[in-house]
Amino acid sequence: MQTQKARKLLMIPGPIEFEPAVLAALAEPTPSHVAPDFIEVFGRALDNLRTVFQAPDGQPFVMAGSGTLAMEAAVANLLEPGDRVLQINTGYFSDRMAAICERSGALVTHVPAPAVGDAPGLAEVERALQQDRFTLMTITHVDTSTGVLTDVAGLAKLARAAGALSVVDGVCSVAGEALPMADWDVDVALTASQKALGAPPGLALVMARPRALEAFRRRTRPVASYYADWSNWLPVMQAYQARKPAYFGTPAVNLVLALDVSLAQIIAEGMEARVARHARLSEAIKAALTALGLSQVPLRPAVAAHTLSAPYFPDGVDGAALLGKINAAGVILAGGLHPALRTRYFRIGHMGAVNAADVLATVGAIEQGLHGVGYRFDAGSGLAASQRVMQGEAGHPPS
Ligand code: PMP
Repeated sequence: MQTQKARKLLMIPGPIEFEPAVLAALAEPTPSHVAPDFIEVFGRALDNLRTVFQAPDGQPFVMAGSGTLAMEAAVANLLEPGDRVLQINTGYFSDRMAAICERSGALVTHVPAPAVGDAPGLAEVERALQQDRFTLMTITHVDTSTGVLTDVAGLAKLARAAGALSVVDGVCSVAGEALPMADWDVDVALTASQKALGAPPGLALVMARPRALEAFRRRTRPVASYYADWSNWLPVMQAYQARKPAYFGTPAVNLVLALDVSLAQIIAEGMEARVARHARLSEAIKAALTALGLSQVPLRPAVAAHTLSAPYFPDGVDGAALLGKINAAGVILAGGLHPALRTRYFRIGHMGAVNAADVLATVGAIEQGLHGVGYRFDAGSGLAASQRVMQGEAGHPPS
């Protein structure tokens, strides 16, 4: 185990820093998946997921797997060969969702963003919806490759009007960005444990609302994915909800214990307060980047996520060297991911347990790194800008 003095702060867009109480749950002696105590924990976690997804009428699914499995489960259960999907494309993870839909035999139409760092406009999406009869509209709420945030409320409304189900990839948004599923009438949202939900990697989570479950029940052909098939998981989830034993595939028992702890913490904080904390800390990081002269991939605040930031490296700065110096200063950040600009930018995750001290440590390490690579700036200007936002003196209202 590393010593405290050698510790580094993990500020990547997942996995994140986890609460000690969440990590402690991993060290519990592993119970049987049908032990009464575990059934109670799993049942409670499923109940609490409805609160966190703000979907009182939703059916949660929790499977061992990463976010990509959640993406696959969300669409494979709703698609049959020849179905049409409208993909709102904001980056790398939107492309991945399209590829997953194609594996189920669907025909995907992309509505591309006008530029990297932007999101397609609602008028353009409405036009695209008129061209065909779409079964699904798939939306990446926050594309982690660009830091772009989409207007899920507006898009889901358009999907509804066109008779398509809306499926939201919330891997980088659920429990960090506002996503009131029932209020916005989103049909399916999915996430993974390792981001704003605050539990270690390994759980794929899907919330399906009644229209999606009805569509699943009406399907005529078997689901293309055996493991992800809701016919296998629905009776298991319903059993745990009724505090009864059930089995299809062995649950990741300790991860479910950890998830239960994290969900209780999230609910204790309150969804509104949690989203507001993410917005405030994001604003503080973004204000620092601007003060330091670093531009960002999202083209304007209205399309900028609050769970991560995606700054460009300053001109003339060797990006790998800068990230190395920031790491030496104690903070781990992530490189780029979008193929069109992979080497030109980096990514800072700020979700889950993140607090004001983490923001200052991160901005301080970025300043040290910039100094180390010979970039000229006013020392302390990033820190001052962050402080001003966190003290409520400056910054824009959360977008
Ligand atoms: N969608 C988004 C928006 C993501 O950020 C990620 C992971 N970074 C995924 C899907 C895939 O999740 P996983 O890596 O857990 O498979």
